[in-house]
Amino acid sequence: MIHFPQECTNGSGSLCHQQTILVTGGAGFIGSHTTLQLLGEGYKVVVIDSLDNSVEESVKRVADLAGENGHNLYFFRVDLRDKDALEVVFSMTKFDAVIHFAGLKAVAESVAKPLFYYRNNMIGTINLLEVMAEHGCKKLVFSSSATVYGQPSSVPCTEDLPLSTTNPYGRTKLFVEEIARDLHIADPEWKIILLRYFNPVGAHPSGLIGEDPRGVPNNLMPFLQQVAVGRRKELTVFGTDYPTKDGTGVRDYIHVMDLATGHIAAVRKLFTPKEIGCTAYNLGTGKGTTVLEIVAAFERASGKKIPLRYADRRPGDCSEIYASTEKAERELQWKAVYTIDDMCRDQWNWASKNPWGYRHPDLANGNRT
Ligand code: NAD
Ligand code: UDP
Repeated sequence: MIHFPQECTNGSGSLCHQQTILVTGGAGFIGSHTTLQLLGEGYKVVVIDSLDNSVEESVKRVADLAGENGHNLYFFRVDLRDKDALEVVFSMTKFDAVIHFAGLKAVAESVAKPLFYYRNNMIGTINLLEVMAEHGCKKLVFSSSATVYGQPSSVPCTEDLPLSTTNPYGRTKLFVEEIARDLHIADPEWKIILLRYFNPVGAHPSGLIGEDPRGVPNNLMPFLQQVAVGRRKELTVFGTDYPTKDGTGVRDYIHVMDLATGHIAAVRKLFTPKEIGCTAYNLGTGKGTTVLEIVAAFERASGKKIPLRYADRRPGDCSEIYASTEKAERELQWKAVYTIDDMCRDQWNWASKNPWGYRHPDLANGNRT
């Protein structure tokens, strides 16, 4: 179903034109924060989302937070697998660029349902790229992931490390990166930026938008948050025998507000006259933090004691991964500024104001049907 807000059209069915960004997956965690920053920068933003892992309420809150600029935000409930619906959206307006967040991201689910993941993330992306090409929109920012470094041979990870990955979710990121590179070789008019996110956490400082995963969270921070608000009994720490300072895994956590700023920097780069081809950038802080350090920081921020259970390593996990941030600093003029304490403060602010996320408690734990 497509939702056409009244104020979105100019009477002839077309959107009124100014510099306009299509944000796929814009109702989700990173997409909602980026949409808010795009609006703040004066862009017109069209969000499309299937609401498979999100709710429309996040888009409404973004519009509220954007104040006057909120009238530059339009939302259509569209699934990228539905190419006809995508065609309708593209026939209504001319997009200057696309930020493509839409995708499913649960690693364990991707192992259990590989075809579902390949259809959603691959076919969805191919549909998008085809429709973009047909409509002459050849500027793209794609949400890739540090998962493409697999078990990295060295840290910090530089963008030129060999790529490999261990699960279907990761392969969808790797394959889309390859498709993007092939597309640019075939048609050099394309300008494509692949952003490899490290571990996005935190929330908008207002506490009105944040991460709201469906079902049992896979990632550390949302799980920790649910323990702190009493939705789960304890946090399981996966692995205490890694060769790290306290034996637990090391990751590069990055505040979602910094990630959003990274997207603004990428979009600006797309609009420079330079030949940028198809190129990848890490979005991380360049700093590694252990699981136990995150738990301690979250306890300080929340004033809650987090019960822990120590368990074996989680299959497929690497010991330590963090980003080299030099390329993004040099070429995007972007650098993360938020600290781990900032991330935990804003995560807790969101959690304490929205213990059940955007949803009613009865719906908050729902799995996909
Ligand atoms: P999210 O689940 O909160 O947001 C993704 C959004 O895409 C959701 O709103 C979902 O409903 C939508 N979506 C999924 N399939 C769709 C389809 N076929 N058509 C339209 N909409 C669809 O996830 P997020 O954390 O905001 O991640 C955004 C992107 O960044 C994803 O591509 C994810 O793989 C990637 N990424 C996330 C992380 C992370 O840890 N959060 C790390 C690296 C990369
Ligand atoms: N982790 C953990 N318990 C959890 C979830 C994650 O101990 O419930 C650990 C995990 O083993 C890793 C780190 O926290 O060392 C970050 O995991 P996450 O899934 O958030 O990110 P990823 O491993 O995909 O980088």
